[in-house]
Amino acid sequence: MHGRGGGGGRSSRRSAASANVDTTKLYETLGVDKSATAQEIKKAYRKLAVKHHPDKGGDEHYFKEINAAYEILSDSEMRTKYDKYGLEGLEEGGGSGGAASEDLFSMFFGGRGGRRSAGPRRGEDVNHPVKVSLEDLYNGKTVKLAVNRQVLVGEARVCTSCDGHGMVMELRQIALGMVQQIQRACPDCEGEGYQCQKKKERKVLEVLIEKGMQNKQKVVFQGMADEKPNMEAGNVNFIVQEKDHELFKRKGADLLISKTLSLKEALCGFAWKVMHLDGREVIIKSKPGEVIQAEAAGGRPFVKCVPNEGMPSHGNPFVKGNLYVLFTVQFPKDGEIQPADVKQLRRFLPGSAMECDYDEDTAEVVHLENADVRSFGKGGVQNQDAAYDSDGEQASPQCQQS
Ligand SMILES: [Zn+2]
Repeated sequence: MHGRGGGGGRSSRRSAASANVDTTKLYETLGVDKSATAQEIKKAYRKLAVKHHPDKGGDEHYFKEINAAYEILSDSEMRTKYDKYGLEGLEEGGGSGGAASEDLFSMFFGGRGGRRSAGPRRGEDVNHPVKVSLEDLYNGKTVKLAVNRQVLVGEARVCTSCDGHGMVMELRQIALGMVQQIQRACPDCEGEGYQCQKKKERKVLEVLIEKGMQNKQKVVFQGMADEKPNMEAGNVNFIVQEKDHELFKRKGADLLISKTLSLKEALCGFAWKVMHLDGREVIIKSKPGEVIQAEAAGGRPFVKCVPNEGMPSHGNPFVKGNLYVLFTVQFPKDGEIQPADVKQLRRFLPGSAMECDYDEDTAEVVHLENADVRSFGKGGVQNQDAAYDSDGEQASPQCQQS
């Protein structure tokens, strides 16, 4: 609860804090100066009390505040105490009863959503996904999006059907003489506790997609969700949903592209054109003597990178990530190299070549057929399926016979 300190330090706080306790709230409630005369206070109170009477559609909580404020400020002794020690002084000093003996703190500074309370409840946020291309995340963009929101017309008043609770009790006969009590949301105010005229409003919001924003990042419009009586409106959040790109994959500020090279390109050099996300043509070219491997150590894909050609960093777009290239090397197929050319290749390519000594009379020369690694282990006669049946406890008949 607001305003109440823990640990029994109230009296010390009272004496020390007479300078910083709140001694203006009640005057503000009545809309008068601290120096107002008793006459002026009375006049202000009457005006407000008539205007905000719940029977005339006024807010019940505010009406209570007005009455409590008047009760204190119209009593010269209580007013003096309040001016010196704030509400704390009144609570402690034992007011003359009435509204002053109620929990003044929760009335003015907390409790269930008083309209003048320090922290009103907030309505629910609304999330809208926004699909954004990688190009737009690279370059930045403003997207205009329309939202339909509920706005309140005029003042809200406490729902008379549920007395502001938002819930009503209902009795339902479940058998002869047996009644069940059911609590459910008040149908007249839809559980809000307040009734108010509402209308739909179409609002066009300009969503700024900043350079380098990440997938699932939020663009927040505070208080743009539906207006609810006696509540601060929630936020409208636009949530960036990065669209897949046909060329680039993204992780953080880095980009990745895949490139298949012929063996000739992998060995002898290459150059290819990449249309970058900002429309620039970037030529990725190998250096003389550079060789692209079929795979990296440990069987990992072979990658190289172009520094600073990734995405702009969000918040600091001049610092960019890197552009990774994941290579696949396409070897020539059987028969694509002529036997005469093989001779030439053998001369130029490094490494061993057909160095194998064997006795042609005793050694067997064999050749290779195409195969699939998934077939490994499936050779030989395949009649043992039953022996490896998954429910091993019931051994197969064949197994028992043998
Ligand atoms: Zn209601």
